[in-house]
Amino acid sequence: MKTPDIIIAIDGYSSTGKSSFAKLVAAKLGYLYLDSGALYRGVTLFAIENGMIDSDCRIDEEKLENALSGLDLHFENHDGASLLYTGGRCIEKEIRGMEVSGKVSPIAALAFVRNYVDNYLRAAGSSKRVVMDGRDIGTTVFPQAELKIFMTADPLVRAQRRANELKAKGEEADVQEVLKNLQERDYIDSHREVSPLTQAPDAVVLDNSHMTFDDQMDWILALIEEKF
Ligand code: C5P
Repeated sequence: MKTPDIIIAIDGYSSTGKSSFAKLVAAKLGYLYLDSGALYRGVTLFAIENGMIDSDCRIDEEKLENALSGLDLHFENHDGASLLYTGGRCIEKEIRGMEVSGKVSPIAALAFVRNYVDNYLRAAGSSKRVVMDGRDIGTTVFPQAELKIFMTADPLVRAQRRANELKAKGEEADVQEVLKNLQERDYIDSHREVSPLTQAPDAVVLDNSHMTFDDQMDWILALIEEKF
């Protein structure tokens, strides 16, 4: 299949498998993959490590906003995997843990944090041929994206998948706790003032509750073939 020069925006609820799917799609099409959630997680880790957010998620916004311009977050490719770095330090493991997951949504609700991440994403996606996943890619970051997918799945299926992922990495994971965390994130993400999680009117819905990765790949390749 000849691949078109397009931006593919994959948005949706927490733990619907957006990143895994987006990575596979990017690899299949030979596109760049960008994980916007990783950047919000990177900012959150930075805030935690520098005492800018406490255990009740109270944020020292002024301190964080002032420090953000000096924060060097970037992706590096190692053996085909895109990993998040701050300076010379790989922070991929830290940003996926439960502490960051519990604090990332309040951080991502701040307008100046969204600005910081949006600038990064727009610069990286300017040459098209990119797959990006997040919550507001098709609505705010790239409203002109040629293909928009909105992913959803049964909450319990999502929690189970996420718990399995965490366990595979050697982390403790209770399904009910994971379910609570993803429902809280979905609520905050959908109700915040700036760029709330919402389905773009021109997005195509993918409910993958009962689909394998192969099913999802067949589905999107057929869609691309039909549309472009
Ligand atoms: O995709 P992931 O679950 O890693 O994202 C972590 C958090 O970052 C989300 O729960 C959401 O609060 C925030 N996020 C966002 N907008 C995006 C991507 C992620 O607000 N485009």
